[in-house]
Amino acid sequence: MFDNPLLTDLKSQGVIPDVRIGLPMMKMPYPDGTFREGVNLEDIPVGVLRVLEENTYRDPFLLASGKAIPKMIRHICPDVLEPENLTEIDVEAILIAARLASFGPTMKFKHTCQNPQPVGENLCKHENELVIDLQEFILRYAPFERLPEFQLTLPRLNQSVQLKPIRYGSAVRIMLKTMEATRRADALQDKPLEGALQDEAFVKDYVGMVEHALTTDIESIRDSILYVASREDKRVFNPEFIEQWLRSIPADQIVLIRERAQELSRVLREIGQTKYACGACGHENLVQVQLDPQKLFMPAEESSQPRTHSAELPSIGRKGKSHSKISRR
Ligand SMILES: [Zn+2]
Repeated sequence: MFDNPLLTDLKSQGVIPDVRIGLPMMKMPYPDGTFREGVNLEDIPVGVLRVLEENTYRDPFLLASGKAIPKMIRHICPDVLEPENLTEIDVEAILIAARLASFGPTMKFKHTCQNPQPVGENLCKHENELVIDLQEFILRYAPFERLPEFQLTLPRLNQSVQLKPIRYGSAVRIMLKTMEATRRADALQDKPLEGALQDEAFVKDYVGMVEHALTTDIESIRDSILYVASREDKRVFNPEFIEQWLRSIPADQIVLIRERAQELSRVLREIGQTKYACGACGHENLVQVQLDPQKLFMPAEESSQPRTHSAELPSIGRKGKSHSKISRR
């Protein structure tokens, strides 16, 4: 790149800060071509969110198609060539770092109390104002020393499965397919049964719908598996082989794998959660601090005076973890 004195100016004055992070799942094998050659996954620079990213992110079509975030990550993180290959938790860490670089450590947002019990006559619905210190919060996204211990042995088959966090691109694809499955089911629902059984076109559509839903389910399980180990501990990583295998094993074994995969996503989701007590009723609320478009581009001091205390940030079992890889220069 050319040395632009204008940009050098901005850098030396700290207008373009340099936040660097280690990817949480850096120990997981990523497909070739995911990163720029020679990259150090423990030390990835994340740039600021500019007006270009903001526009990309607010574009409803890009957002719904799942293209907005990868496009944005390519800009703020030039070391990442294929953002779709990152895991969702890597993506979250990058977005938090970008928000930190762009607007500083303080993030304020509002959350409506979710107390399911009525307080007096009505539900509480108090609007709490939360303050998150991102410098603190991002420590939760420090790189895992190794993959989370998510293995399971299938007793009936004498084979074992190593699960992995799902990749961003695959999560988006499955979400779109699930939407499509719902649409097809809705379209076929109104037909009365008697006529339907004689209607060849309808039966064909119906079978197609069932097959589509099944394929989506199998694909989502396949994408949560790093490898399957055979009886002699031969590890199979090939997704096509894994899918063939999934289509051949008994349904109850599929249920076991699915449950374990859901547990893994739950554990990873908890990293981005925070608890706070409602300022009005005291109910303990759980908030996902994921960075939606509003939170990402909202300046730190946008909101009015905080009405409640700041969110309590519980540490979740990752104490004693390596220090953050963040540095501001
Ligand atoms: Zn409340």
